[in-house]
Amino acid sequence: MYNIPVQKAESLKKKPLDSELTFGTVFTDHMFIMDYTTPGGWKNPRIEPYQPLVLDPSTMVLHYGQAIFEGLKAYRRNNGKIGIFRPRAYVSRLNRSAERLCIPKVDEDLFYEAMIKLIEMEKDWVPGSRETSLYIRPFVIATDPYLGVRPSHTYKFMIILSPVGAYYPEGFKPVKIYVTDKYVRAVKGGLGYVKTPANYAASLLAAEEAKKAGYTQVLWLDGCQFRYIEEVGTMNIFFVIDDEVITPPLEGSILGGITRDSVLHATRNWGLKVKEEPIAIDQVYEAYKKGTLQEIFGTGTAAVISPVSELKWNDKIIIPGDGNVGKISQKLYDYITGVQYGLLPDDFGWVTEL
Ligand SMILES: *Cc1c(COP(=O)(O)O)cnc(C)c1O
Repeated sequence: MYNIPVQKAESLKKKPLDSELTFGTVFTDHMFIMDYTTPGGWKNPRIEPYQPLVLDPSTMVLHYGQAIFEGLKAYRRNNGKIGIFRPRAYVSRLNRSAERLCIPKVDEDLFYEAMIKLIEMEKDWVPGSRETSLYIRPFVIATDPYLGVRPSHTYKFMIILSPVGAYYPEGFKPVKIYVTDKYVRAVKGGLGYVKTPANYAASLLAAEEAKKAGYTQVLWLDGCQFRYIEEVGTMNIFFVIDDEVITPPLEGSILGGITRDSVLHATRNWGLKVKEEPIAIDQVYEAYKKGTLQEIFGTGTAAVISPVSELKWNDKIIIPGDGNVGKISQKLYDYITGVQYGLLPDDFGWVTEL
């Protein structure tokens, strides 16, 4: 047990109706925060009213982007209790990101306990209807007031909470994705395997161009040959070709998604043929031509499973199956969300119930 003092908000906000929820626009009444100093380490963990930060204009994170984050969810379960999906996996991933960004690691037990305490305090903010949840956003920022490039000597670690509806306004409907061979998101040796804002900054221009062309997101190819498939920027990607499930391996340039891992566990458990192997965009196109490309779907905490109805690659259009939600995509969505909402047995012990 850690000592985490609480300062309560003087007045509570009005909670939105479940039907009004979008993604990432509304925040709860309280937040967790702690500070890092050199020397001293992580100190002063506390829960405070949700409020703006006061930062010096020279604060390092604003100039050099030394920051990391996580994103996980708590759900209102069928029995009325609150469940968090694979919390420990997200907690330890934050520390893997910390290492790459020269950010001091946080005590994982303290992080975990603080998160649970905050969610318990804010439990009335966990919405109840299907497809809604409480999104949990832990993050760390570099806070030295200093214009110069080096790791900061001071940081803030925070957790904020946001009740959310579906990530894509389309909900569980197929999305259309634009394959770019003009821009690169990450290369091996870079930041691609960690959750850091820089990866998102790098993705914006391509995403804007894709949107203008009528596509929801960008599919990134490898930065050397523009051939091997990487991921979708906020999602990992899977293909079903000839009854085989294929996803690119984790080799340093893509993020190791927890949802990706959950999908690998579930599909292997169902006895499907599953491989983590490099797959090239031209191979996907060939499979489409041959009629063996059955499904494409993205995986991520925000949307869970996001079926893909179309890839646009230069002047070529690739359509998996008949363009509707595929069998495996649907089964995975039903299974994972079923476990999350407590409608199906938790075969792998993924859910921590409060
Ligand atoms: C967060 C993220 C994902 C999805 O990971 P999950 O753990 O499944 O949410 C995929 N790609 C990138 C770049 C991400 O930041």
